[in-house]
Amino acid sequence: MTDASNPFGGFSITMVDDPADATAVPAPGGPSTVESAEGRVDSKLVIVGSGPAGLTAAIYAARANLEPIVIAGSAPGGQLMLTSDVENYPGFPEGVQGPELMSKFRAQAERFGARLIDVDIDRVDFSSRPFRIWARGTEYRGQAVVVATGASALWLGLDSETKLRGRGVSACATCDGFFFKNREIAVVGGGDTAFEEATYLTRFATKVHLLHRRDTFRASKIMVDRALAHPKIEIHPNVAVEEGVGAEKVRGVKLKDTQTGDLSTLDIEGLFVAIGYEPNTAAFRDWLAVDEKGYLVVRDETHSKIDGVFIAGDVHDHRYRQAVTAAADGCKAAIDAERWLEAQGITEAATATAW
Ligand code: NDP
Repeated sequence: MTDASNPFGGFSITMVDDPADATAVPAPGGPSTVESAEGRVDSKLVIVGSGPAGLTAAIYAARANLEPIVIAGSAPGGQLMLTSDVENYPGFPEGVQGPELMSKFRAQAERFGARLIDVDIDRVDFSSRPFRIWARGTEYRGQAVVVATGASALWLGLDSETKLRGRGVSACATCDGFFFKNREIAVVGGGDTAFEEATYLTRFATKVHLLHRRDTFRASKIMVDRALAHPKIEIHPNVAVEEGVGAEKVRGVKLKDTQTGDLSTLDIEGLFVAIGYEPNTAAFRDWLAVDEKGYLVVRDETHSKIDGVFIAGDVHDHRYRQAVTAAADGCKAAIDAERWLEAQGITEAATATAW
């Protein structure tokens, strides 16, 4: 069933072809996903999240005949849906638009039998197998689960910031820095990300203004010293960004001195917001280990502390945060989940090599 209102370009799914199978639970050799008469969906593998990690896990799991259910979220596709040109994803020498790339991921997963459902999860219960996930009134049960819910960049919360996102406002220097060649730009934030991004952006920009609301920094001293010594970086302590200036694209920012309240305007053509990330882990915190910043903790590459629950992508990785690393993580999680299901006797042997 095509959903014309879905900007992701995907499909809504029909769960079960044959209601006669409805009471069955996935078993070796049988269908991997079945729906009960009450509307409950039982699957060998449920993947939560539909960014590069979740959808790569779906491609691999689908090709292993697991017919994974992907709870894709109400805004499916992950952070790349907010990015315009992606020029560092291998295989696209001319670059690709973020939403187009994710639409291709999705089509590839669906081609092999992954079933995507564009809803947010409400809660989970990982206390025993099958693991249970509730989303918009439906209970999904998975013999194994891959959690790939990603992280969201924090934004300042300004109207102009939303309006100008992709038009000079960005939260990813690695993704968008190249578009600011020979331009004067600003980075907001006082942590390592802001300093790292400011330093990175000097490769392209003529000048990088680092705007921070205080005069002490969370960033490590070495990063601050490097920025202080850099001829292209100017640090502005004690300033808050009040609004972005510009209609079609960024032309400047309005600043407020946090000590005196004085207002000023800085002419720039790009604004990078680097005030941290928030991993999307709220639903899992009662079940899985999180680190001090709220990211899920993995052991042995993709395993969580619960056997059968696997983790992939930015929901645990605050170091690389790239589409390609998240995709690789999703691949690993699917392979580990398949091998685990096989070891439990839930899938038949010999599927693990069918990638
Ligand atoms: P941090 O939480 O360390 O820093 C966020 C910064 O943004 C702070 O300076 C904070 O200001 C500021 N900020 C937060 N909210 C607002 C707001 N609404 N308006 C204005 N400013 C705001 O996040 P990072 O992403 O920088 O770093 C996250 C973690 O990742 C850290 O542990 C860091 O060390 C690590 N990291 C390490 C790197 C490396 O080693 N190469 C590179 C990047 C990150 P304030 O200080 O006033 O609260």
